[in-house]
Amino acid sequence: MNIGFIGLGNMGGPMAANLAAAGHVVTGFDLTAPCPAGVDAAASAGAAASGADVVITMLPNGDILRKVADEIIPAMSQGAVFCDCSTVDVESARAVADQAVASRLMAVDAPVSGGVGGATGGTLTFMAGGSDVGFSKVSPLFDVMGQKAVHCGPSGAGQSAKICNNMILGATMIATCEAFALADKLGLDRQKMFDVVSTSSGYSWSMNAYCPAPGVGPMSPADTGYQPGFAADLMLKDLRLSQQAAKAVDADTPMGARATELYATFVEDEDGQGRDFSAMLARFEKRGRG
Ligand code: NAD
Repeated sequence: MNIGFIGLGNMGGPMAANLAAAGHVVTGFDLTAPCPAGVDAAASAGAAASGADVVITMLPNGDILRKVADEIIPAMSQGAVFCDCSTVDVESARAVADQAVASRLMAVDAPVSGGVGGATGGTLTFMAGGSDVGFSKVSPLFDVMGQKAVHCGPSGAGQSAKICNNMILGATMIATCEAFALADKLGLDRQKMFDVVSTSSGYSWSMNAYCPAPGVGPMSPADTGYQPGFAADLMLKDLRLSQQAAKAVDADTPMGARATELYATFVEDEDGQGRDFSAMLARFEKRGRG
């Protein structure tokens, strides 16, 4: 396929490289990041999109996505698919999809889970929203860039799934960290705590696969000084998107709201910026109730 790829940062760069390595013709554009090996550089987003069968965007937020969409939609060929893999607000995802469909394009919102490691290794999970035809057209590309793609429903459903998942993740990571900090103060050995919880009803991905306690459980960012991994600031971004969506549809999400407040404090007022989101444990270790 001819693929236009816009946004070649930490995630987009390796995703575009994997598509090129699989034999697709990839034309890329980024304001600052260099084109990875095998990807031809275009002079503008419009030029990267022109003539492509599929245009993939991997951008920082919904405002930037809307601006890029204004530029590329008129440049795209009829019947081509606009596939946005960024994590953005549900409203922007739907607005951009409507704009694309009104211009006789297909639109798929397909945010990812798996981080930079998943992007590099081609093991991302895609959660997609859009028409059946649009999804089936981009599915072979998801197979190259990832190991699983779930078609969640119409436009916006991919973003909805992503923020619901990450709202659970933020809340369970905090719950896991505060439980370790409580166990410490109760004199309970961390390995014993892991052995019990990871095989009992308190288990979760945060505990079992990404244990925030160094030296306990499988290798995780806790074992490398809390280098991300999944950065606390990206968790905060996703939690804020979840609360924006909850507000828009009048959903009561008290745990998500509290997780958002805690990650905001951690990233903006404490030392969470640039650290893995599981570094919350180090935060709780130091604190008492006051
Ligand atoms: P990044 O900042 O490394 O990359 C974004 C790129 O977009 C940058 O290179 C930037 O120059 C480029 N860009 C910005 N405006 C542009 C424009 N108008 N035209 C062309 N390029 C433009 O961010 P990232 O870590 O690659 O994340 C990308 C998206 O993926 C975000 O929405 C993020 O939330 C999501 N995501 C990231 C991770 C992760 O672990 N990094 C995991 C899952 C999802």
